[in-house]
Amino acid sequence: MKTQVYKTKALTEKLLSRYREDALAFAKEHGRKPCLAVVLVGSDPASSIYVKKKEETCRANGLEALDVHLDPSLGFEKLKSTVRELNSRKDVDGILVQSPLPKGWDERLIQSMIDPAKDVDGFHPVNADRLFIDAKDALSDGLPPCTPAGVMEILKEAGIEVKGKHAVVIGRSTIVGKPMAQMLLAEDATVTIAHSRTDKRPQLCRTADILVAAVGRANFVTADFVKGGAAVIDVGISRIETPEGKAKVVGDVNQAEMMGLAGFYTPVPGGVGPMTIVLLIRNTIRAARKLAAAGRVAPNA
Ligand code: NAP
Repeated sequence: MKTQVYKTKALTEKLLSRYREDALAFAKEHGRKPCLAVVLVGSDPASSIYVKKKEETCRANGLEALDVHLDPSLGFEKLKSTVRELNSRKDVDGILVQSPLPKGWDERLIQSMIDPAKDVDGFHPVNADRLFIDAKDALSDGLPPCTPAGVMEILKEAGIEVKGKHAVVIGRSTIVGKPMAQMLLAEDATVTIAHSRTDKRPQLCRTADILVAAVGRANFVTADFVKGGAAVIDVGISRIETPEGKAKVVGDVNQAEMMGLAGFYTPVPGGVGPMTIVLLIRNTIRAARKLAAAGRVAPNA
């Protein structure tokens, strides 16, 4: 069995060139670029890298990125008032509050305070509900969570048949596992969600035609989880130390064991990760368009 190792570079470039044009057209019509506000509380190194990457990708593709950096000593109330202010600004189209927040801060409350029309992460209850009711509609016209939406783009582009297939999603988080299952279900897959309490995980996963791993444990998915010819999508991101003492980013899937076994496999790095930012750009442009249609867009002050 030859394994197709699917890197997303060509797909991300194709989509970004389309979104660049959309952003340009928006700027011509409205006198300013679509704008994403990225809120970072504190200076967690991984979060700082993610935020920088998101902002750079915005700026490189015709969007504005508003960098909002809060010191945790300002307190939770300051974060709430910042979200309220960004909600009301007519020159801000998307709001993203980088996770994780400082220990003890209520992340769900912040997610639900963001104006659902500007909720480009897709975590607000209104957007989660739209996904629950009709994931196809949310994907084509709403603000769906970026990572699972990115996986759906990969499956579409690669021509992986979803309809009628058995998809197993390992992980049931609200940001990846659960929305991923809803999106696959909407495309007529038969979906099973596995998690830390699932019995006989390898046997169950071996029944999957499409296996999505969103666990957060390095090299967790080994050959005994995978049916020959299955499509294996690796969402996980873990930082490990090599025997030589070097830092390395790996996924949930043991890449070496997929070769000659899986039919299709997305590697880490270079697979799902870059798609997440691309979908964030798409969501921001969508939000900007909808806000403009509702008369809620103004040029920069
Ligand atoms: P999470 O909230 O920690 O959820 C992990 C899920 O994995 C939980 O549902 C957990 O089950 C399940 N799990 C843990 N141990 C397991 C085991 N031994 N067997 C089966 N299931 C197990 O993580 P997340 O936010 O969904 O993220 C998952 C991974 O994706 C992380 O590595 C994260 O860094 C990565 N990620 C990548 C992107 C990207 O852009 N590529 C975006 C988001 C996240 P329980 O519910 O039973 O505890």
